[in-house]
Amino acid sequence: LNRRLDGLGTTIFAEMSALALATGAINLGQGFPDTDGPEAIREAAVRALRDGRGNQYPPGMGVPELRTAIVDHQRRFYGLTFDPDTEVLVTAGATEAIAAAMLALLEPGDEVIAFEPFYDSYAASIAMAGGVRVPLTLRAPDFRPDLDALRAAVTPRTRLLLLNSPHNPTGMVLTSDELTAIAELAVERDLLVVTDEVYEHLVFDGEHTPLISLPGMRDRTVSISSAGKTFSFTGWKVGWVTASAPLVAAVRTSKQFLTYVASGPFQYAIAEALRLPDDYYTAFRDDLQTKRDLLADGLTAAGFEVYRPQGTYFITTDIAALGEKDALAFCRALPARCGVVAVPNSVFYDDPDAGRTQVRFAFCKKDDVLQEASGRLQQLA
Ligand code: PMP
Ligand code: GLN
Repeated sequence: LNRRLDGLGTTIFAEMSALALATGAINLGQGFPDTDGPEAIREAAVRALRDGRGNQYPPGMGVPELRTAIVDHQRRFYGLTFDPDTEVLVTAGATEAIAAAMLALLEPGDEVIAFEPFYDSYAASIAMAGGVRVPLTLRAPDFRPDLDALRAAVTPRTRLLLLNSPHNPTGMVLTSDELTAIAELAVERDLLVVTDEVYEHLVFDGEHTPLISLPGMRDRTVSISSAGKTFSFTGWKVGWVTASAPLVAAVRTSKQFLTYVASGPFQYAIAEALRLPDDYYTAFRDDLQTKRDLLADGLTAAGFEVYRPQGTYFITTDIAALGEKDALAFCRALPARCGVVAVPNSVFYDDPDAGRTQVRFAFCKKDDVLQEASGRLQQLA
């Protein structure tokens, strides 16, 4: 293994899901729903397979039906306009989009500012591209970004900001004032911004605002999203980039040598999913909001300190209140202690001490599963 990947080992999601499988514990670790997305969309995938659409290499930019559906989605929800031929790129999930963006945009030694705790592929993607990550720590209980620290972190070597809102794992959603301050900084210091917006449809009590919609950001933002979260098909790996034509062309240059293309028939099905009526999106969010409250109450009753998320389908908690000192050890022991799997946030920080006692639970699960898990966790003490 080369030194760039030193210490990246096995992802915490793989470790914890394997533990869930081996022990039969309830898996509130890795973020995937236990109910698949809409029947009609699964039928659309079957139809595409049967009719021979996408069974051979789809076009490098993605099938035209999907690119047009993405453009229409951006217009419907955000009033944004993109050219489906030059400003949209379909990727193998958001994961590939993030990696391809880092590989395309960074020179070795370029600095990338990202808020920690970060989604684990950020550190790996920056490292593979030879970049240097500059973490800015989000702190409990609100996990609000420190904008003065952000401003101070920009150096002549800073190439880009890598943002994620709604934020995994904390559930923090950037406010419009924060987005404005970030956009002003990016313009002033001439920075690119890569924004991971995979939880764009999971904002509770409010609306998602894409950074690219702010003044001065249209030509310096690479927006990334994915069908995995919004339509509950994490295994299909259909993601996308929307950005200016030069930025899309740059990301495509590296993307074409990673996978070239992926998920042919599923691209057609997701084109249909993106056209689902507003009701689908509202019901999806409302359903997850109810689940958030259900699990938050269960965790509170079990003695965890709960940081109620404004978005995503994760709850970050603190286990110090339970007399626990180490999230990783706690999560490794939890299946044996009470039959539940969770994820330690400490692995998402460069400075593990910052998240030493933080544990994340996913609530994209059936209500009775969340209730059963809560009951088990309440037996812990
Ligand atoms: N970004 C964030 C913040 C995530 O939580 C995830 C996990 N789904 C991804 C990216 C990866 O998305 P995908 O499965 O589409 O690659
Ligand atoms: N995004 C999911 C999570 O945060 C996991 C995806 C993965 O396993 N790589 O739990």
